[in-house]
Amino acid sequence: MCPVEMTDPDPSVIANIAVPPFARVPVPTRLFAGRAARFAALAEGHDLGPYLRFLAALSAAQAAIQEGLPEPQRVASDFLARAKEHRMPPLDRSGFEADAVFGATFARLLAAAERITPLPPPAQAALARVQAADAAARDAMIRNVLAESIPVEALAEHVFVAAALQVHFARRAAQFDAASLESVGEGVCPTCGGAPSSTVIVHWPQAPGTRFCSCALCGTLWNHVRSKCTLCGSTRKIVFQEIESETEGAGTVKAETCDDCHGYVKILNWQKDRALDPIADDVATLGLDLLVRELGFRRGGVNPFLIGY
Ligand SMILES: [Zn+2]
Ligand SMILES: [Zn+2]
Repeated sequence: MCPVEMTDPDPSVIANIAVPPFARVPVPTRLFAGRAARFAALAEGHDLGPYLRFLAALSAAQAAIQEGLPEPQRVASDFLARAKEHRMPPLDRSGFEADAVFGATFARLLAAAERITPLPPPAQAALARVQAADAAARDAMIRNVLAESIPVEALAEHVFVAAALQVHFARRAAQFDAASLESVGEGVCPTCGGAPSSTVIVHWPQAPGTRFCSCALCGTLWNHVRSKCTLCGSTRKIVFQEIESETEGAGTVKAETCDDCHGYVKILNWQKDRALDPIADDVATLGLDLLVRELGFRRGGVNPFLIGY
């Protein structure tokens, strides 16, 4: 038997192996401008048209208010070291303090929201309530959004608070080198510790067809194995559900249901349509939520803009 000749691996071949990055942090202006365009496109002929158009304008405001905003304060290096040691995300939600930069972001967002035309009357009333809220009431709303527990009766008010927090946390997430982020748990954002709004099958050349969770708050994308429940990690009984209709379906948005934890998250396919947005398409596919809920599954994705669910 001839010995097999062993040679050093060709580095260029290794470089060609598609290895998905673990995480990707957002480019905040692009994130919200893209979302605004997607909401506007989805609004055409949609049952939720007026609401989606309002969210298009709100997302456009989230992009526009960033110009000239001071840079958020970077996380202290000793906190980062501690977080890494304990496998905690570098952005601490429970210890969040509304500083001057967040205050400016919030004020700009509210001012920009006031200029949205037409502002649907329920949104107008909710905006007025947020503007009239004192510091303690605003702080309580901030805590609700960060804890992912928004009271059902005050969803409309929290839309504005969540919009401001999304801008602030996306800008903070953008300060990190994605390569420095590490897993902090199944289905948990490695930057801010949040839940995904939905998940995406990406079209990226270095990782085509791999899946990423999309953080509902900071917009970080992180790798998660396909056909594995993002809620409980089970791979046993995963089933995909979808609706075939003009505005939903066509294989671009599905719900991944898990018979082990009876939860589901949506999967958007960028290989089929790059315009899909993890927040906008989630809101616009409310019919899919209603269908899957009827089948007995509980929603696992977090989305502060999803109403009527
Ligand atoms: Zn996050
Ligand atoms: Zn599960």
